[in-house]
Amino acid sequence: MKNMVLEKIILARHYGFCMGVKRAIKIAEETGGKEIGTVNVINEIVHNDSVVRQLQEQGVGSVPSVADAREGTVIISAHGAPPRWFEESQERGLNVIDATCPLVIRIHKIIRKLIANNYQIIHFGDAHHDETTGVVGQAPPGRVEVVGDIDQLRTLATIDRPYALTTQTTADVSDFESLSVEAQKLIPGIEVFNTICNATSRLQEAVLDLAPRVDLMLVVGSSSSANSNRLRNISKAICRRAYLINVADSLKEEWLEEVRIIGITAGASTPDFLVEEVIKKLLDLSEKRVEVVRTGKKAASSQAMDQ
Ligand code: SF4
Repeated sequence: MKNMVLEKIILARHYGFCMGVKRAIKIAEETGGKEIGTVNVINEIVHNDSVVRQLQEQGVGSVPSVADAREGTVIISAHGAPPRWFEESQERGLNVIDATCPLVIRIHKIIRKLIANNYQIIHFGDAHHDETTGVVGQAPPGRVEVVGDIDQLRTLATIDRPYALTTQTTADVSDFESLSVEAQKLIPGIEVFNTICNATSRLQEAVLDLAPRVDLMLVVGSSSSANSNRLRNISKAICRRAYLINVADSLKEEWLEEVRIIGITAGASTPDFLVEEVIKKLLDLSEKRVEVVRTGKKAASSQAMDQ
């Protein structure tokens, strides 16, 4: 690309697959490899198009709901599911494999314990996300109220019950902090459970560290991935130019104008090969030598690559 001034690409200290995603994919691959008839994941095993496609090639399909699975085995994704999905699967004679992340199961347990102790729960999260469906389903109707932001929190009418606040595992750490401060003002005595997972916190911290040092942040991940979108939003608030890209071919040359340093991260559901393809594409586009700095989990030292 002519006029490209790119000098350096820096990978975030932490990026890509988390423990829960690796575990869920392994469970799905093993289930698909056992030749036990039709195998379907309810929705997506994790929110990444490439991962879903690769599993399909290994005989693991997906269906939008339990009702759409006619036979064989259904896999519950890393995001978890409400108890009624398990019951419905059993009623329909389906074999159920549970790939729910242990850190999502932790929230389910917290919710059930709070309900048993008569709490009303406010849950900070995306109302339409699979994880939220699973969390809300742990409680009787109306006992978990989902809020997406502080404005929604302010509109809630409170009832005469002790209150607790929980959050989606992939929420923005600083947004949750602000929301809990407001919740404590509105509902004195509310108990706050920070259920953001460690992987999410690490990915966000790494972006907060990297974004101020670069001209452009690229977040590799699918648009359906909540945590990838979050990383893009955090990046954009700091370095203004930040894009979410699903695959290397989505890269637009106009994004690279006057960009000397690019920071790259990836959502918790993004396989490493997609990150490597984005780096390769950038190196292919540049007519000059570009340094690739890997400070994170994949390597300890810098490396320079010639074009
Ligand atoms: S992002 Fe966190 S909660 Fe979600 S699958 Fe990964 S480790 Fe589990």
